[in-house]
Amino acid sequence: MQEYSEKLEDIYDEKLGRHLVASLSIEPGETLLEEQPLLVAPHWECDRLKCAQCLQESYVICRRCQVYPLCMDCSAHDAFECEFFASGAGSGIGKDLLIKNYGICALLKLLLLLEQPDQRAQCQILLERPVKLEDYRNEDGVWQEHEEQVVRPIMESGLAQVLPDQQLTSDALHAHCIRIDTSAYEVTARDGDTLKGVYVRGANLPHSCVPNTVVALDEQFNLKLYAAVPLESGQIIFTSYANPLMGTSQRQHQLRMTRHMECACVRCLDPTELGTHMSSMKCRDCSDGYAVCDLGGTGNWRCLDVSCGAVIPAADVHELLAEVGGALVDAKGELSAYESLLAQNKQLLHPNHFLLLDIKQNIASILRAAALMNSLNDPCKKLLARRVELCGDLLPICRAVIPGISKLYAIALFEYLLSFVELTELQFSEGDVDKKGYAAQLKRAQSVAKEALDLLQFEPENSAEGFLTERIAMELERIESDLMKYGKH
Ligand SMILES: [Zn+2]
Ligand SMILES: [Zn+2]
Ligand SMILES: [Zn+2]
Ligand SMILES: [Zn+2]
Repeated sequence: MQEYSEKLEDIYDEKLGRHLVASLSIEPGETLLEEQPLLVAPHWECDRLKCAQCLQESYVICRRCQVYPLCMDCSAHDAFECEFFASGAGSGIGKDLLIKNYGICALLKLLLLLEQPDQRAQCQILLERPVKLEDYRNEDGVWQEHEEQVVRPIMESGLAQVLPDQQLTSDALHAHCIRIDTSAYEVTARDGDTLKGVYVRGANLPHSCVPNTVVALDEQFNLKLYAAVPLESGQIIFTSYANPLMGTSQRQHQLRMTRHMECACVRCLDPTELGTHMSSMKCRDCSDGYAVCDLGGTGNWRCLDVSCGAVIPAADVHELLAEVGGALVDAKGELSAYESLLAQNKQLLHPNHFLLLDIKQNIASILRAAALMNSLNDPCKKLLARRVELCGDLLPICRAVIPGISKLYAIALFEYLLSFVELTELQFSEGDVDKKGYAAQLKRAQSVAKEALDLLQFEPENSAEGFLTERIAMELERIESDLMKYGKH
C-alpha cells in the first residue's frame, strides 16, 4: 500500500528536490497519501532488546538463526532475515551481532531489504535521495553516534563482505543512516516505547512550521497524510518536523540539527510569529510595549511602540532564555520551582512567550496529577480554577500556530475540557452556581467537546487519537445527559 491521491502530482525542482503539489483543489480532511512503513526499528541508542516480530520487549533469541531477539509470544520473525543468518550468506557472521550491537537494527533491516528483489524498488526511492556527507562529517553529535553505534560495528562484523553487491563502505553506511533519520517519524510501540518508522514518501515532504497537512499513524504504524486546510491546485504539500510550541530561533536550531535545513516559512519570517508573540520580550523602557526580534537586520529585539523603539541586545535575550531553559530542567517536577520561575519571568517575557507556556504546561500537568490522586476527598477549587486558567491560556496559541485541522489544538481543547468540567461540577455541587448557571457552563463544555471531536474526525480508530476521540465522546455524552436534566427552562 503506497497510494497517492489522484489530486497530487510528483514534481521536481532544484530547491525542494522531488516533492508533491496539489493538481486539483482539495478539501480539509481529504486523504493525500497512505503508506506502510518501509521499516520500523528501535532508535540507534536503544539498549533494550526488542522482539524482531512484534517490537515489544524480548526475552529469548530466535532458535533458528540465533541472531534475532524474540518475545514469549512470537516464535518466528521475517523469513528472509532469519534465513540469511540461519543458513544463508550471513551464517558465518558472529551470532552475537545484534546482542552486542543492538543499535545497528534499523540499518541491518535496510541492508537486508536491499538484498530482496521485490523490496528493492521501495528502498531505491530512499537511496536516490542525495545526502551531502560533508554537512554531517566531523559533527560531534550525529556523525559520532552513527559511527560508534552503527557504522563501525557493521564494518567490523564482516557483513560488508557477505553483501558484495552493495559495495558497502563506511561512507555508504553513514549516508544510509542519515537517510533513515531524515525519513523517519517517531512511532509508539505497543509497550509504549518510541521507535523509528521509516516512510519513503510520507516522511520526506518539504517542511514548513505552518504545515498544510496532518500525519496520522495507526497502531500498525500505517501512515495517512491528510489535508489540514483547503488546498488549491499548484500548492506545495508541506509537513512540519519542528515543535510548534517552540519559538522561531529554537525551531530553527532543531531543524538545523536534525534536517540540516533553514526554514523560511511565514512564521519564521514574521517577528510576531503569526501574531502569537511566542518569542517577544517585554520592553524594558516603556510600561506596556513588547519587543520583537529584528530578523533580517541586527538580530536585536526592538520595542514595537515606535515612540519608544528601545532595543534589547540579542545577547541579553539569548542569555536570559538559556538561563530560564536551564532552570526549567532543574525544576524537575517541583511545583514551587515552576511557580517562582513563572513569577520571575512574567516581568520579562510576553505572556505568550514559549518559555512561559512551557512553565504553565508543567504546572497544569502537576495540578492534573494532584487532582487525580485526591479526586475522592477534597479537590481544591482554587487549584482546579488555576488549572482551567492555565489550560485556557494555551488554547488561542495552539489555534494560531497550526491552522485548520490540528491535533495539537484538539489535545489542548481536551485538557481544557477535563479541568473545566471538573470545576463546573464541583461549583454546582457546592452550590456556587445555580441550575441555570450550571447549564450555561455545560453548554460551553459541550461546544468545546464538539470542536475537539471535529478536529479528530479524520484520525484512524486504532490510534492514540482514535482512543482520545472515544474518551471525548464519552465526556460529551455525560455533559449532554446533564444538560437534559438541568438545561430545561
Ligand atoms: Zn514478539
Ligand atoms: Zn531467526
Ligand atoms: Zn519555519
Ligand atoms: Zn518600549
